[in-house]
Amino acid sequence: MGEQVSAERVTQAKPPKTAGGGKKKTGSRPETRLAMVRRARRINRELAEVYYYAHPELDFDNPFQLLVATVLSAQTTDLRVNQTTPALFAAYPTPEEMAAADPERLEELIRPTGFFRNKAKSLLGLSAALRDRFGGEVPDSLEDMVSLPGVGRKTAHVVLGNAFGRPGLTVDTHFGRLVRRWRLTEQTDPEKVEAEIAGIIPRSEWTMFSHRVVFHGRRICHSRKPACGACPITHLCPSYGEGETDPEKAKKLLKYEMGGLPGQRLKPPADYPGQPAPPPGA
Ligand code: SF4
Repeated sequence: MGEQVSAERVTQAKPPKTAGGGKKKTGSRPETRLAMVRRARRINRELAEVYYYAHPELDFDNPFQLLVATVLSAQTTDLRVNQTTPALFAAYPTPEEMAAADPERLEELIRPTGFFRNKAKSLLGLSAALRDRFGGEVPDSLEDMVSLPGVGRKTAHVVLGNAFGRPGLTVDTHFGRLVRRWRLTEQTDPEKVEAEIAGIIPRSEWTMFSHRVVFHGRRICHSRKPACGACPITHLCPSYGEGETDPEKAKKLLKYEMGGLPGQRLKPPADYPGQPAPPPGA
C-alpha cells in the first residue's frame, strides 16, 4: 500500500516553471541570493513531504555500531554494509572486543564491503582509540570524533546527527551532486559545500535535509540518468532536462521503494513505505 502512495506522490511531478527553476527564459535576470535561499528552503520543505520517512540507511542499535557501519560504507552500498554488520556485531559487540579482534578474522567478516584490509585497520585503530581515550564510548563532539583514526567530517556528522541528535550536514557524493544541480553552490570540495549550505539551510534542519537530499539522489536524481520526468521538484530545479523527461520512461528509472524494489535497511523504521532489504543469501 505505502509503496503505491509513495510512487504516486513522485510521479505527480509538477510542470517546470520559469521562476526559480525549470527552463529559463532567454535573457532572464540572474537569481538573487535571497531568491536562491527561499528556493533552497522550499526544496527542503517539498522533499520533506515526499520523503516523510527519510532516515539513515545504515542499520544500527547504538553509536558504536553506526560509527563502524559508516566506516564500512566507503566505496560500497549501505545494503552491502547492512548485510555484513549483523555477523560483525555478533562477534565484536563493543570497542574493547573489536580492538582485541584477530585481524584476519575481522578482515574475513567485513570482506563483502570491499577494501577490507584498510577498513579492518581503521576499525582496529578507532576501537583501540575509543577504548584507550574515551572509556569505550563514542564521543559526542565533532573535534573528538575527527581525532579518531579513519574518521572524517562526513562520518562524524553521520554519527553526531543520527546517534546523538547534533545537527550536521553530511556531504557525500549524492549531496554534492544535487546541491550543485540545484545551483545552491558551485563548490566541489565537500568542506566548502558544507560551509555554503550551512549558510542557506537552518541548523535545526541540517540532519534531515541531508537525509532528504541523499534519498532524492538515490531514488530519482541519479548521477548518470536523473529521472526528471518523475521528479516532484522540477519547478524548483534549474537542471530540469538533464535527465529523462518522458514520465513513463522516467518512472522506470526509479529505485528502491519508489520503483517498488526493496530498500537498503534490513531493519527499516516503522513508517518506511517499502519492503525491507533481504538478509545475505536470501
Ligand atoms: S531529477 Fe531532474 S528535475 Fe529533479 S532534481 Fe534532479 S535534475 Fe532536477
